[in-house]
Amino acid sequence: MPLRIQTDVKDVEEILNQVLNTKSPPVARCRLLSSGFNPGHSLNIAEDIAGHKECLGCGNCVDICPFVYREPSRREKTEQRTSMALENIVGADCDQCGACILVCPQVDTTIKNYVVNRRMVEVMSRLERRIGDEDEPDLDLFLEEAVS
Ligand code: SF4
Ligand code: SF4
Repeated sequence: MPLRIQTDVKDVEEILNQVLNTKSPPVARCRLLSSGFNPGHSLNIAEDIAGHKECLGCGNCVDICPFVYREPSRREKTEQRTSMALENIVGADCDQCGACILVCPQVDTTIKNYVVNRRMVEVMSRLERRIGDEDEPDLDLFLEEAVS
């Protein structure tokens, strides 16, 4: 089955950049800018949710978030695994890395491609600048663990 017609990033670029420039988990807003659940995707439920843009509660965004990885105790704030949970756990401490967008099944590929092609170089360079910053000991620890 063909993919739904996905969001043309040119139509939402301004608001998408505002979302990506805000220090808050971006995945829910990117979901809402997307075209919704594709009829060609499989999900073992009876309900027809084609076009449905809401959170599926898959927890991918919570699992991938580097901030949650660095501060796992924050998971104790909630047992939910939704974008709302991610917002509660991370809030304004978001690293703006974009990883949650890339793993969300409800965000259009067009938006993911935009994030990878237009934003990732800036994200990597911003995170790299924080390495060695005494105010960012958690990031150093995270990198040491990642390469060990
Ligand atoms: S995965 Fe990255 S962009 Fe998403 S909430 Fe976590 S730190 Fe923020
Ligand atoms: S990755 Fe899963 S849990 Fe997170 S916003 Fe997308 S559908 Fe919801």
